[in-house]
Amino acid sequence: MAQDSRPLFIILLGPPGAGKGTQARRLAERLGLPHISSGDLFREHLKNQTPLGQLAQQYMSKGELVPDEVTIGMIKDRLARPDAQRGAILDGFPRTPAQAQALDALLAERCARVVVPYIRVPEEELIARLSGRLTCRAHGHVFHVRYNPPKQPGVCDYDGSELYQRDDDKPETVRRRIQVYHEQTAPLIDYYRQRCVLVEVNGDAPLDEVTQALLEAVQGRGA
Ligand code: ADP
Ligand code: AMP
Repeated sequence: MAQDSRPLFIILLGPPGAGKGTQARRLAERLGLPHISSGDLFREHLKNQTPLGQLAQQYMSKGELVPDEVTIGMIKDRLARPDAQRGAILDGFPRTPAQAQALDALLAERCARVVVPYIRVPEEELIARLSGRLTCRAHGHVFHVRYNPPKQPGVCDYDGSELYQRDDDKPETVRRRIQVYHEQTAPLIDYYRQRCVLVEVNGDAPLDEVTQALLEAVQGRGA
């Protein structure tokens, strides 16, 4: 049978702390597609002190969403780059119905295949994951103080850079982010279910098991 040459977009859906970033990196490596994280892109802008980074920071620090127009523009630019022509693993985008509609239009133009794994994790577990998350300064690699500790405390296994706790992983902001998720992002579960592209995956399992379940979900969709 001829190989399907249409681009493949895997949209990882799930609350903050579900494991989207961790799993997106693994899938990107396995499938040879770029990992595109809207949060990482905003943090990169912030590190470089661009006007977009400074604007985004006003929202990120409070656990609110960056306005749709700005976020959609940033992702459109990223998806226009050569490495995303065969597809991508999207992590943290879309997060609102308006973002999902903008993405749909873009992917329809490209005749893309779309799979949307929804990573389900109980709320108490999310709080434990976010409050122990460690992030690397150089490239955003993610660890956890207990669940996925680095080999050497405070140092990234992959690039040797410093690990830090994200400001928005502090308890008050974590609570607000989970609330914002329920209000603005959770409606996308039904949005994608109605389009028959949603696959539920249990995210409350060891890292390797979740990766395996995601790969099966993607393959099960013929992707
Ligand atoms: P998200 O991108 O969805 O916000 P992350 O991938 O950053 O989530 O994961 C949040 C935290 O939970 C990180 O510290 C990560 O190491 C940890 N984590 C991710 N998946 C699991 C898992 N299956 N079991 C235990 N801890 C996990
Ligand atoms: P994340 O790295 O996915 O946890 O995102 C961190 C923060 O970046 C969020 O709490 C938002 O403030 C902002 N952000 C990331 N992605 C989006 C998005 N798709 N829409 C709006 N804001 C976003």
